[in-house]
Amino acid sequence: MADWLGRVRGHVGEAKGRFDTDRREREAAGKAPADKNIILTEREVRGEWDASRVLFTTLGGQARPITAEDMATFRHNMRQAESRFKGGKGITARQVIDLASGTPLRYVSPGQPASDIDKARREITMGVPVSAINGTIRFITNAGPDSKVRRHHVVVNLHEFETAAAQLAATPNDGKGGKTPKQIANWLRKQKLSFDCDCERHRYFFRYVATIGGFAAGRKETGYPKIRNPELMGVACKHVLRVMSELESSNAVLAFLEKHLASVSEYKARTQLAQMEAEEAVQQKTPTRIKTSEQRAAEARKVREKAAIARAAKEAATKPPKKIAPASRRASKTAAETLGKQFGLSPEQVMAILAAQAKTSKG
Ligand SMILES: [Zn+2]
Repeated sequence: MADWLGRVRGHVGEAKGRFDTDRREREAAGKAPADKNIILTEREVRGEWDASRVLFTTLGGQARPITAEDMATFRHNMRQAESRFKGGKGITARQVIDLASGTPLRYVSPGQPASDIDKARREITMGVPVSAINGTIRFITNAGPDSKVRRHHVVVNLHEFETAAAQLAATPNDGKGGKTPKQIANWLRKQKLSFDCDCERHRYFFRYVATIGGFAAGRKETGYPKIRNPELMGVACKHVLRVMSELESSNAVLAFLEKHLASVSEYKARTQLAQMEAEEAVQQKTPTRIKTSEQRAAEARKVREKAAIARAAKEAATKPPKKIAPASRRASKTAAETLGKQFGLSPEQVMAILAAQAKTSKG
C-alpha cells in the first residue's frame, strides 16, 4: 500500500488550502511597507526602477544589490523566455519535457541531481489523476525524500477539453466513421495545457516563468525571481515533470481521460476515483520513462534499423543456397560494411545481427 497517496477524499480541500496559504502569503509580501518589501514588480523591471531601493539578486552567481544594468538583463531574460515559449497561450506536455531537458535550471548544491528532470526520474515515481472537473485534472504525486509533506498536488488545465468533448458528442456510436473515444482522449492529452503545483520549487522558481510563458493554471506571479531564478531557466518542477510524462504517455491516464470524456458527454462534468480505485492505480502502475523527444527519436531510429536489417536477412535467407565460393567471405564482409554504413553500425554488428536472425529463422 502506498503510504504517500493518503486519502482521496479531501484531496481537493487539501490542495485548495495549500494554494490559499500561498496566495495569502504573497499578498502580504506585496503589501509590505517600502523598506521591507522585497518584491521586484513588473513595472520596475519594465523601467520604473527606483535606484534607492535595496534589493538583491544572485545574477552572476553571488548575492549582491541590484543595479540599473540588472534591470536591462532581466528584461533581456524575459524576452528570451518568451521566445522559448513562443509567447503562446499554453504549452504541451512534450514541450515541458523537452524544455526542462534543453534549458534546465541547474541545482547548484553539491550532491544534488543536475536538474528537475533528473529529480523527476529518480524521486518522483508516481503521478496519478484522481479527479477531474471538465478540463481541470487533479493529479497527486509522491513527494521527494526531503519533503515536509507526503504528497503534492498538480493541477492541469487541458485547453482543448471542450473541443474534445464536442468531437466525442458528434461521433456516431455505431463503431464506424469518426474517431473512437480513445483516439479523442489520446489527441486531447497532446494539446496545449497550463499547470500549477503546490510545492515551493514551483512557487519560488517557476511560477513567474509559467506566468510570462502563458501556462500558469493557478495564481499568476508578477514578482521577478531575482534571487531564485534570475536567468529564468527551466520550466517545471519534478512533480509537474512526472505528471507531464504520465499524462502524455501512460495508459492509465489515457483510460482516465476516456472515462472522464464519456461522463461529460452524459452531462456529468465530474469524475473522481474512489479510494480503492486510486490505490489500485498506484499499485498496478510502473512509472513511465520520462523521455525527451531526442531520446524518443533515437529509440525509434534503432527500431527501424533493426527491422531493416531483419528484412534484409530474411531476403537473403529465401534466396536459393549458393555454393560457397572462396571469395564469398570477403564479399559478405563488403556487404556488411555497405549495410552497416547505411544504418550506422559496424560490419561486426551487422554480421552478429544476421547470425542471430539466421538462428531464429532456422528454429
Ligand atoms: Zn512541484
